[in-house]
Amino acid sequence: MTGTGRRRVLVTGGAGFIGSAYVRALLGGAHPGWEHADVTVLDKLTYAGNLANLAPVEGRYRFVRGDICDDALLASVVPGQDVVVNFAAETHVDRSITGAADFVRSNTQGVQALMQACLEAGVPRVVQISTDEVYGSIERGSWDESAPLDPNSPYSAAKAGGDLIAAAYARTHGLPVSITRCGNNYGPYQYPEKIIPLFVTRLLDGERVPLYGDGRNVRDWIHVDDHCRGIQTVVERGAPGEVYHIAGTAELTNVQLTERLLEATGSDWSRVERVRDRPGHDRRYSLADDKLRALGHTPRVSFDEGLARTVAWYAARRDWWEPLRGRTRSAFTPEPTG
Ligand code: NAD
Repeated sequence: MTGTGRRRVLVTGGAGFIGSAYVRALLGGAHPGWEHADVTVLDKLTYAGNLANLAPVEGRYRFVRGDICDDALLASVVPGQDVVVNFAAETHVDRSITGAADFVRSNTQGVQALMQACLEAGVPRVVQISTDEVYGSIERGSWDESAPLDPNSPYSAAKAGGDLIAAAYARTHGLPVSITRCGNNYGPYQYPEKIIPLFVTRLLDGERVPLYGDGRNVRDWIHVDDHCRGIQTVVERGAPGEVYHIAGTAELTNVQLTERLLEATGSDWSRVERVRDRPGHDRRYSLADDKLRALGHTPRVSFDEGLARTVAWYAARRDWWEPLRGRTRSAFTPEPTG
């Protein structure tokens, strides 16, 4: 705490999609008692990091541009923090297929450097943000938190490495770190390389959209606000050393999702181009979230409502996404089939 009793919260990767939603929610009063937190955002500002994501709370947080792999920087930022929440990662699976080095660096090595800095500084609460993708793929049923890690992509393998390191710091050193694992997020300020903002922005511009393989891959969608609520539940009430699942509200195949996005933008299937499947593409993810629900968490945003709000946001916020489109397209360019 600071001299005035404000909790000090370090949000690493806080200029990305989910980290910025967490900061906006915290400072915006979504979690009573935290709206006056003394927030520091530490972010490397890769192509995916964008301070415009934090514009609604401008002037209310401290920004440090830097890398979670930088021990010296961490030694100057981490001491004195009451809570550290780590969102920093390379996150796009397609990019991890064409180049995995940055993924291993940020998602595994970076977690080690951050955990070490938290240990040395005696940070009392640490949360590592992770993904359902660390479990690989499941045909039927759902994983609970004790399921074995069996990742398929370089992205998810590097995230699994980070999870194992965080868990090891809890077991070996007693670091009070909890891990959260969540499904596919959607919402405002998501970089337009991920399927929902990619499809919505292209459809709004009258362009075609690429659908991988047979389109029957199943994802469990969660609105980013529900993810952030789940994270805050773990910050406040999660047990150190434990893993918590944050499940979504809608299991959809990519074909079903595409149908919904076409409808929402007044488009039809002539806009969809079938492309060769992503290598190692997981078929289905599904999380059981009983453990988090036992702490009082329930998701609040239905997919219908969340998607309608999200599409309306991208339609209204060309000022946010148009400048990003020129910056870079996905490194893995899917090939049309047939
Ligand atoms: P994002 O790509 O939008 O943001 C990542 C942020 O981390 C960016 O601001 C980037 O600049 C920053 N960053 C990257 N490497 C860094 C480093 N070495 N040091 C400091 N900052 C660095 O990603 P996101 O979708 O917001 O995901 C955030 C976290 O949530 C990630 O850990 C991801 O694995 C996890 N997650 C995401 C989803 C999803 O659907 N997007 C689902 C489950 C879990």
